[in-house]
Amino acid sequence: MGKRVIVAGMGHGGIAAAALLAQAGFDVTVYEQKAEGKLGYDWTDIFAPGALGIAGIPMPPLSKFEYKVDMTFFGPSFTVGLQQHVPLDNREIKMERSDIYDHLIGHALAQGVKIRYGCAVEAPILFGSRVVGIKTSEGDFYGDLVIDACGVDSPLRTQLPDSLGIEKETGEMGKIYIYRAFYNKGEGAPAEAKYKVMLFADGKQGISWVADEEEYTDVLVGRFEPFDEAEALRFTEVLRETNPRIGRERLRGGQFAQIPVRQPLSILVADGYAAIGDSAFMTVPLIGSGMANCFKAARILADTVIADANGAFDSSTLWPYQVGYYKLLGAGFATLAAAKTTVSELTPAEIDYIFESGMVTEEDITMGADFTNLFAAVKLDPKELITKAKGAISDPTLLKKFVGAAMRMGKASAACAMMPKKWNRDRVLSWAKVYQYAFK
Ligand SMILES: Cc1cc2nc3c(=O)[nH]c(=O)nc-3n(C[C@H](O)[C@H](O)[C@H](O)COP(=O)(O)OP(=O)(O)OC[C@H]3O[C@@H](n4cnc5c(N)ncnc54)[C@H](O)[C@@H]3O)c2cc1C
Repeated sequence: MGKRVIVAGMGHGGIAAAALLAQAGFDVTVYEQKAEGKLGYDWTDIFAPGALGIAGIPMPPLSKFEYKVDMTFFGPSFTVGLQQHVPLDNREIKMERSDIYDHLIGHALAQGVKIRYGCAVEAPILFGSRVVGIKTSEGDFYGDLVIDACGVDSPLRTQLPDSLGIEKETGEMGKIYIYRAFYNKGEGAPAEAKYKVMLFADGKQGISWVADEEEYTDVLVGRFEPFDEAEALRFTEVLRETNPRIGRERLRGGQFAQIPVRQPLSILVADGYAAIGDSAFMTVPLIGSGMANCFKAARILADTVIADANGAFDSSTLWPYQVGYYKLLGAGFATLAAAKTTVSELTPAEIDYIFESGMVTEEDITMGADFTNLFAAVKLDPKELITKAKGAISDPTLLKKFVGAAMRMGKASAACAMMPKKWNRDRVLSWAKVYQYAFK
């Protein structure tokens, strides 16, 4: 029997890594708190399907997905709508979350992964500073490696000893609070845009959307501050005034959820431990997409674990996972997270100005649909951003905010470049402090 791997929580990266490791001969068990068939949320998600192939997962059957419609972005006053024009071969797919899980689970089981449902992970079990297992509602389980895929509030990450230097909390504005519901189709003409994404609508800091689907209207309310159902319903009523296709009968959803929208976790690994997915804050800051990143990270993690021929699974042998992740995605997300701080400083009037002045174009919005493409286009070069801002902004207050953003992005990018390429405890801990400081 191969080395024993525990996957705590059936996060998307966890189940994808589980499949790769089981295929390579590891003895892998996933411990998931929910009951079989009850995973995920009652809604659809969009993600780049190419990421599945990276994790060795086949494409789902055609009957289970459709291609995402281009989004149109609006500022708070709805004066200008900027539509994406994503090339056909680069489109993301839209799938029911439950179908995504069925697909991932089916694949993992076929590779030999074992799943224990209804088993709530409560805390890590430590031997000195090494994670050697998990405490759960069903008893204690031990393994050679624990992969933490428990999501943003993971009971493992948040209970690791401080001495490991792994951040426990998401920090200020580190999460976006979401309410999502599908309504029946209201009376009225189709909306001018099928998939409207609104920034700071109703003057509230956040992002919301109204998607005019065939059978229902999909409403998402996202805010940087927690809010309750009464506020979600009040806001939906505001949206109805300009979106009569939002009917009054809630067909599905009506759930609250949270997404991390901050820089990736500064240290992803410890002896016997690796975090993946929302537990390691791997979402695209601002946007909150996390699934494709999970699949890519799963491949890097699995390759790192397989390469550890002696099965030590300690910080030093797991460190290449961190280096690989930051190289592929993390450094870019960290830079974007630094820019996000400025978005939260903008007033609704300034957001309107950005839309109306042509500072952001449909081309920029289209590139935003493909993160790799976005990097290639702007290279997230702070100097280039300052030049662009100077050419487009006449308001000195707004210009100051943009220059501040560019400087923060430069700091975050420089911090990522300084990350030690090889594990050395002291150097990694002091680097993590520098990295975290870049976002203060
Ligand atoms: C409203 C909403 C819409 C989103 N839309 C998109 C989208 O369209 N595209 C996209 O790419 N991303 C989207 N995301 C983000 C995406 O869901 C996540 O980034 C991605 O799934 C990675 O999260 P995860 O799987 O690591 O964690 P999670 O999805 O949180 O999964 C964690 C798993 O661990 C289990 N778990 C948690 N705690 C315990 C415990 N104590 N014991 C045992 N099990 C536990 C949970 O039950 C769950 O199964 C959305 C998120 C939300 C909330």
